[in-house]
Amino acid sequence: MPLYEVVPRRTRPPAEAYLSACGSCTRCLDACPTGALDPEHGLDAGLCISTWTIEHRGEVPQEWTDAAAGMLFGCDICQAVCPWNLKAARRGLPPVVPDYGVLSAHAELTLADLAVLDDDEFRRRFRRTPLWRCHPEGMRRNARRILEGGE
Ligand code: SF4
Ligand code: SF4
Repeated sequence: MPLYEVVPRRTRPPAEAYLSACGSCTRCLDACPTGALDPEHGLDAGLCISTWTIEHRGEVPQEWTDAAAGMLFGCDICQAVCPWNLKAARRGLPPVVPDYGVLSAHAELTLADLAVLDDDEFRRRFRRTPLWRCHPEGMRRNARRILEGGE
């Protein structure tokens, strides 16, 4: 089973293609801070920091607050260490792990600002960006969590 499915379903090659592409590499497995990746079963979304910082609504349990320390929106450590992504970057292909240009365009915002950003301002700044995915309350929660953790 592939660890990642980054290719649209209709054009996805057979699973064997992914397995052979990984070879003996285990970089993403070794790097994942929460053990969310398993060579037999792929990604367990319930263990992934991206789930807790982006998809989850409501407060984050303490164990995940600790695991996601300092992470405002998602994780992507597994993507950053993948040699295929590094190779693509060297060839000048678009990065799988974005450089978070969205946030750098709002660099004047501090964590304290994000922790109290109201819904209208969040919508104005981030409505058509990936950050919209966590909703205003999710962004405030994440920023607050980092501030309270002293990161
Ligand atoms: S995004 Fe982070 S927590 Fe999720 S699988 Fe990748 S390394 Fe693990
Ligand atoms: S880091 Fe990339 S190549 Fe290595 S096992 Fe993970 S997905 Fe496969």
